[in-house]
Amino acid sequence: MKITVIGTGYVGLVSGVCYAHLGNEVICVDKDVQKIATLKAGVIPIYEPGLKELADACMESGHLQYTTDLGEAIQEAEVVIIAVGTPPLPGGGADLQFVEAVAREIGANLNGYKVIVVKSTVPVGTNETVEEIIARHTIHAFDIASVPEFLREGTAVSDTLNPDRIVIGTKSDKAADRLSELHKPLTNQIVITDIRSAEMIKYASNAFLATKISFINEIANLCEKVGADVTEVAGGMGLDKRIGGSFLKAGIGYGGSCFPKDTKALIQIAGNVEYDFKLLKSVVEVNNHQRFGVIDKLYRALGSLQGKRIAIWGLAFKPDTDDVRESPAIEIVERLLELGAVPAVTDPIAMSNFRKLINHPSIQWSATALEAAQGADAVCLLTEWQDYIQVDLRKLEQVMARPILIDGRNAYSTKQLETGRFAYYPVGRPALN
Ligand code: NAD
Repeated sequence: MKITVIGTGYVGLVSGVCYAHLGNEVICVDKDVQKIATLKAGVIPIYEPGLKELADACMESGHLQYTTDLGEAIQEAEVVIIAVGTPPLPGGGADLQFVEAVAREIGANLNGYKVIVVKSTVPVGTNETVEEIIARHTIHAFDIASVPEFLREGTAVSDTLNPDRIVIGTKSDKAADRLSELHKPLTNQIVITDIRSAEMIKYASNAFLATKISFINEIANLCEKVGADVTEVAGGMGLDKRIGGSFLKAGIGYGGSCFPKDTKALIQIAGNVEYDFKLLKSVVEVNNHQRFGVIDKLYRALGSLQGKRIAIWGLAFKPDTDDVRESPAIEIVERLLELGAVPAVTDPIAMSNFRKLINHPSIQWSATALEAAQGADAVCLLTEWQDYIQVDLRKLEQVMARPILIDGRNAYSTKQLETGRFAYYPVGRPALN
C-alpha cells in the first residue's frame, strides 16, 4: 500500500518505519526541514531502541522516503496518516492547530479517493472537524478514520509491531477494509467502531492507566504511614486477574508527552459538555503532588537544603527515552533551585533536552551517576535507567559526602542497602535510617 505519514515525531516516524518494514511504500513528511535533512542522512533525531536499524533497512530496500513536500506526498498516497503533535493549551485542552493546518493541506492537494487517518490523539469530534475542513478544500471523494496510537516511548518499535489491538473508527466500510488489510500482519485484534468511540478509547485508556498509577501512589503514601510495603501490596493485588499487575508500580508519578496532556484534555472534554470528571481531577492532583515526596524526604534526611549538593539521577520521564516533556525531574530540580540547593544532574541521553528547558547557572551537569554523586549530600533516583540500578553501591557510598539515597522508583531492595551505611528512602516502603 502507498502510505504517507505526516509528522515525523515519536509516533509518525515509528509508525512510518514500521509500515515500511511490513512492505508498504511509505513517505514520511515533516515541515521541519532540519529534521528531514537529518533523517535523509540516516540519522534518527529521537532515541528509540531498534528504530535506526529498521529505518536503515527500509531506506535500503526503497520502501521508505523522507520529504518536506507535503503536496506531492499526499498525491502519491492511497492512505494519508496524520501524526502531528496535539500539545496542551494553557487551559488543559488539546491544541489542534497542527492537525487543522494539515487537514487544509490535504484538502488542497487531494487528487483522487484516499483514506485519511487521524493517528494524533484528538478530542472527541475532531475527526469530524478534519473531515469538514478537507471537504471544504476539495472536490474529490475521501473517507476519514480515527486510528489512535497506543505505543509507549522507549518500546515504540516493538509496541507498534506487536500491538494489543488496533482500533479503527470509521463510518466507511471501504476505509475499514483497507485499514484492516494494512494492520492484519500486526494483530488479529482489530476493533472496528464508530469515530467518536475510537477517539474516546484512546483518552479512556490513558486516563485509566493514569488512574492506576495515582491509585498505587496513594496506597504507597498510606503504606509509609502504617508501616506496610507497597511492593508487597501491589504484588498481592496484581495476582488478582480482575486487577492485573501492570501499572501498579509506586513512584514519583507519571510524566511524558501523553498521560499529563491526555488526562487534562479529557477533563476539559468532559467540562465542555458540563460533566464534572471528579475522579480524573483527583488523579491529576495526586500525580502533581507525588513528585514532591522526594523533596519531603530530603528535608527529613538533611533539614535545610540551602547549599546542599543533591545528585539527580535521571531526567527523562522514564528509561530508554530522551523525552523530558512533563518529566517529574523538571519540577523537582526547579524546587531544589528555589530552596538554594545545588542539583548535580545526570542522564544517559536526556541531558541536552533537559538543558533546553532549564539552564540555571547553579545546576552541575554530570556525565555519569558517580560524577553527580561525588561529594553529594544525597542522591535522588528519578528515572530507573539500568546504569543506575546496577551502580556499585559501595563505590557510591565512598564518593558521597553523606550516604543518603532517595529512591523515587523503588529501584533498589532494602537488602542491597542494609550492608552499607546508607540512609535509604524508597516510596511506600519502610525507610532505612
Ligand atoms: P512530536 O511532537 O514528537 O512530533 C510531531 C511532528 O509533527 C513534529 O516533527 C512536527 O514538526 C510535525 N508537524 C507539525 N505540523 C506539521 C505539518 N503541518 N506538516 C508536517 N509536519 C508537521 O509528537 P508525537 O509525540 O509523535 O505525538 C504525535 C501525536 O501522537 C500526538 O497527538 C500525541 O498525543 C499522540 N501520541 C503520542 C505518543 C507518544 O508516546 N509520544 C503515544 C501515542 C499517541
